Amino acid sequence: MRVLLVEDHARLAGLVIKGLKAAQFDVDATATAGEALEAVELTRYDAMILDLGLPDMDGIELLKHVRERRISIPVLILTSRIQVRDRVAGLDAGADDYLTKPFAMEELVARVRALLRRPGAALGQKLVSGDVEFDVAAREVRVAGRLLPLSRRELSLLEHLLRRADKVVPKELLEQSLYGSGETLSSNSVEVLVHRLRRKLADAGARATVRTVRGVGYMITREAS
Ligand code: CA
Repeated sequence: MRVLLVEDHARLAGLVIKGLKAAQFDVDATATAGEALEAVELTRYDAMILDLGLPDMDGIELLKHVRERRISIPVLILTSRIQVRDRVAGLDAGADDYLTKPFAMEELVARVRALLRRPGAALGQKLVSGDVEFDVAAREVRVAGRLLPLSRRELSLLEHLLRRADKVVPKELLEQSLYGSGETLSSNSVEVLVHRLRRKLADAGARATVRTVRGVGYMITREAS
């Protein structure tokens, strides 16, 4: 599980990073809203922890930008603002939860875990790499906004890859989940499927590619535009 922490207070950020890492989360941290926006566009995070008082933009504004870009990352606001109207503004802007400072690290970890357990949150309604968008609910893939028809199995493969975008998905794991135990599986079934998906993405001009990591598996990565 990968969490983005947006907090400009260096000492507090350090403590939160330490606490999350101890709870087995991967953590990236930024101190500005600008960096945070860039980060959520480049990487699919499982959750974001957001401080409201940031040097370049209010956290609420940042959250609005994130939601406008249809990024469905679960967001926990972390702030010393305790007024009810601040909470309401945060939730209205699309936050999923709210924790006021000072807080106990155990509570922060518990709240982040709770965010990830919510249906649709950890799963994400949209999986994205480059200009490839997978609408999980509709089972539709779009490349630069245009619908890309894929077979059921190609969809499953792409979904697995996108759920771990920029990380290697072991070939064994794909074999197990894409092919039922009753099916005869030739040693190159996954390779053939990957090859087909790769060609369809390329033909559609997608700015994302499925890479082969020799001896391990496959990963989808976005291409620089
Ligand atoms: Ca701050």
